[in-house]
Amino acid sequence: MEGRSDHPPVHRETRFDADVARYAARAKGMVASEIRALFAVANRPEVVSLAGGSPNISGLPLDVVSSLLSDLVLQRGTVALQYSTAQGDPTLREQITDVMRLVGIEANPDDVVVTVGSQQALDLVTRIFCDPGDVVLCEAPSYVGALGVFAAYQCQVVHVAMDDEGLVPEHLENAIRTLAAQGRRPKFLYTIPTYHNPAGVSLSPQRREAILEICHRHDLLIVEDDPYGLLGFEGEPSRALRADEPARVVYLGSFSKTFSPGLRVGWALAPHAIRDKLVLAQESATLCPPAFSQLAVSTYLANHDWQSQIKALREMYRERRDAMLSALDDLMPPSTTWTKPKGGFFVWMTLPEGLDSKAMSPRAIRERVAYVPGTAFYADGFGSQCLRLSYCFPPPDRIREGVRRLAAVIEQELEL
Ligand code: PMP
Repeated sequence: MEGRSDHPPVHRETRFDADVARYAARAKGMVASEIRALFAVANRPEVVSLAGGSPNISGLPLDVVSSLLSDLVLQRGTVALQYSTAQGDPTLREQITDVMRLVGIEANPDDVVVTVGSQQALDLVTRIFCDPGDVVLCEAPSYVGALGVFAAYQCQVVHVAMDDEGLVPEHLENAIRTLAAQGRRPKFLYTIPTYHNPAGVSLSPQRREAILEICHRHDLLIVEDDPYGLLGFEGEPSRALRADEPARVVYLGSFSKTFSPGLRVGWALAPHAIRDKLVLAQESATLCPPAFSQLAVSTYLANHDWQSQIKALREMYRERRDAMLSALDDLMPPSTTWTKPKGGFFVWMTLPEGLDSKAMSPRAIRERVAYVPGTAFYADGFGSQCLRLSYCFPPPDRIREGVRRLAAVIEQELEL
């Protein structure tokens, strides 16, 4: 038979595993995140996973989406199944400006670049601004996916402390001054001002003003990452930093949390010159973001009451947040503390003195509960006394059961 051989298959890849020198220096920074390593065990059915950050899309009207997508193929298939432009579909960019108006942003659709999730926007922004060794300022802790991008581009991350009101302006000022004294200038501040991942806190309005003032004074670019801004549980959405400082902020948005992460549609809103570079970077990265996904989102926004849908999602997440906070209040041993999110998906917990969340993780998995150790959210090894809990995915009774198991694990650790 043609192609048949009596020899066992040769594993040709093996050489590439061993030969580190073949890889570009930037590949050394590409290591599996602690979250990825955890997922395999956390997804076992007997484990309550408070680890993942996947949105709960069971709240979506799948029948509506299905008929929208089928109509899309039948009526606009020649566009939806074709290449699009690097900057993204003009109608969708217009609709994105309507979405951003909800967080106070008045924008021209021409300044929007559609990306493959906001994750790709993070990659493109870093690609156009950062050379190896460049400094990026990030909150402490920060989004693990952003840290992965910064590592891939060989940036040096300098963390700036937060408290219950978000990034602390004095610490930002100090970080910039300390770097200046070393003759260094950060390329940008990467910040998640609203419903932070993983910290679960939001910048107060006064802090927003103070941060903008500091960045203005030091002529520092801000990359504002806002995937959760419309998923607040109280009052009106917070005003984006970009709303008050259009020339200094690159704003990143996403439909992953308000519609579907599977379609991979996000965007960057940037001042003209930066927008031009982002479009060129997008062209070389993907030629264009997927037309089908863009038109799917665009059709959904045009034909469905998406604002009511977001309201329903908020209610679902609020119920889960409430379940987590009341379980924590009822069950956690004293001297364990945690943040009280007013939106988004995450609670950040600080363990009693002397406990290490990474060392505790195998015991937690044995007790059938998963979380993400705090060190995943730092570029510098800090965070071992902390961990991230997510309430976005499991139903309320499972959340309570997960917290009960975690409390028991912490109590056992304290007795050791
Ligand atoms: N930024 C933050 C803070 C996030 O939490 C996430 C998703 N977990 C992203 C960006 C990326 O989201 P996406 O690429 O799905 O838009």
